[in-house]
Amino acid sequence: MAKNVYGIDLGTTYSCIAYVDETEHVTVIKNEDGHNITPSVVYFENAEKVVVGEAAKDCAYIEPANTIMFVKSLMGKTDYVKTCYGRDLSPEEVSSFILRKLAMDATKALDCEVKDVVITCPAYFGTAEREATRNAGIIAGLNVMDVINEPTAAAIYYGVNKEHAKKTILIYDLGGGTFDVTVMKIDDEVIDIICCDGNHSLGGKDWDERVMSDLEARFRDQTGTEDEFDEENMQALRSAAEKAKKNLSARDVVKVALNIMGLRGQVVYSREDFETSTAELLNTTVDITRNAIETAERILADRGEELKLDEILLVGGSTRMPQVTRSIIENFGIEPKTLDPDEAVAKGAAMYAMILAADLQAKEEQRREEEGERPMEEEEKVDADRIERLVGTRKKIIYSTTKSYAVRALVNNEPKCCNLIIKNHSLGDDLEISASREFGTAEDNMDNVDIAVYENDYMDEYFEVDDNLLLGNVSLTLPGNLPEGSPIEVLFTLKSNGLLKVYGKDTTTGNDVSAELTSQGIMTQEEVEEIKKKSQDITVI
Ligand code: AMP
Repeated sequence: MAKNVYGIDLGTTYSCIAYVDETEHVTVIKNEDGHNITPSVVYFENAEKVVVGEAAKDCAYIEPANTIMFVKSLMGKTDYVKTCYGRDLSPEEVSSFILRKLAMDATKALDCEVKDVVITCPAYFGTAEREATRNAGIIAGLNVMDVINEPTAAAIYYGVNKEHAKKTILIYDLGGGTFDVTVMKIDDEVIDIICCDGNHSLGGKDWDERVMSDLEARFRDQTGTEDEFDEENMQALRSAAEKAKKNLSARDVVKVALNIMGLRGQVVYSREDFETSTAELLNTTVDITRNAIETAERILADRGEELKLDEILLVGGSTRMPQVTRSIIENFGIEPKTLDPDEAVAKGAAMYAMILAADLQAKEEQRREEEGERPMEEEEKVDADRIERLVGTRKKIIYSTTKSYAVRALVNNEPKCCNLIIKNHSLGDDLEISASREFGTAEDNMDNVDIAVYENDYMDEYFEVDDNLLLGNVSLTLPGNLPEGSPIEVLFTLKSNGLLKVYGKDTTTGNDVSAELTSQGIMTQEEVEEIKKKSQDITVI
């Protein structure tokens, strides 16, 4: 039997796993509870046992101290989330429990090992967040074939569902904790990502918070209580708020029964109340969308093309709120389409996993043939025909940069960051982009220069030095006798997997240095292996 490969949408609030089945359908694999999506919630029942999913979500308000939600928003930003039963947890390890649960449930459902996966992340994740996502997979014992952008995955899925589509589409992806906009052109063969924008701390949870404050205010009016709510009761309120919000997607008014601090109340909450309270959040998404459209216009104008937006596609659970569709029509004059909002990303990732695996094995088979090695066994390979029949020729993805990369330099004697690679530039057919620039040494007789590299979201050539954005330093040794202003060439090469190669050369002597930069917060391989080993003592259910 051919092996399967899987796509995982590791979401802020919910996660989902899918694969391309024997009948060439992209299928979401149900979890043990029979649901297509699993809450990304982790609860430590005791030192050796972790509960993930719906049951963990229920525990969030019984035992908030041992429950972790929204861990995705911490990926790549910190190495510490919480201490549970004396164990310090990193975002990578917490995420690995979610991945283990998804893989475990899928293994049970299909009676087949889940090992090779593609995991998705938001487009604006930088190097550190991407590597943290990959490491979470490794800690979970998975073979992470790639980490790809959520909107790219959605586009792959969408592209296949559209016969002979030659279109420019905008993907508006509003999930539980993140918002992503992507403009891309698709035709029979290529998915060309023009630009991405987004806000990594805006999502359904912000709508929940507004509902929470509205419910709390009304509950206090009704009961007269002025007591501070403890964490347990706040979680109960959060849960009631999310439920009310979801119900308001289908109904005009909801009645919310609350039992908080021993007091009972019933709050009537209308869709109008909800939309008024959250209008500002929705407007932010519209502004970001408009911005992305303007960026796409500029980029296409540079290529001598005009932007004609054919479709807007809605992805992410929060696009079920009716005001999303309404405001898109009002602001952009296009009636958006919805395509499996909770599942499109996982399904696209599954298809990409299959494309990738088929590509890799074609290369491997060729290599083995050339070197006279034994051919691959059936169970080592994916059924390449399956993906061929499903996606046809539409296989190629052209990425654009999702971050800008700068070097620190003196500009008119002022230290500045100088962007060599600017975000939203196409990586072209080669799937990489290079940019170089010549700088001068700052003083006479320097022994070395530090090439300080900054990952950022600025679109301008220069910006003020901000060491929070420092990705790393590469040191170039100099002979120590060069006069001030001696030329130093700096070359950046960025690949589609987000890895940046930095090359520096002292053009006077030819001395050079090159390094592959990953972010400072990234775990070393040894650290990952150590956590993976320790993590095996923990049972995930
Ligand atoms: P995702 O990360 O794409 O799975 O999106 C999850 C978010 O979608 C959460 O914030 C959910 O509360 C929200 N969501 C799911 N269903 C609905 C619905 N029917 N109405 C409004 N929001 C929803």
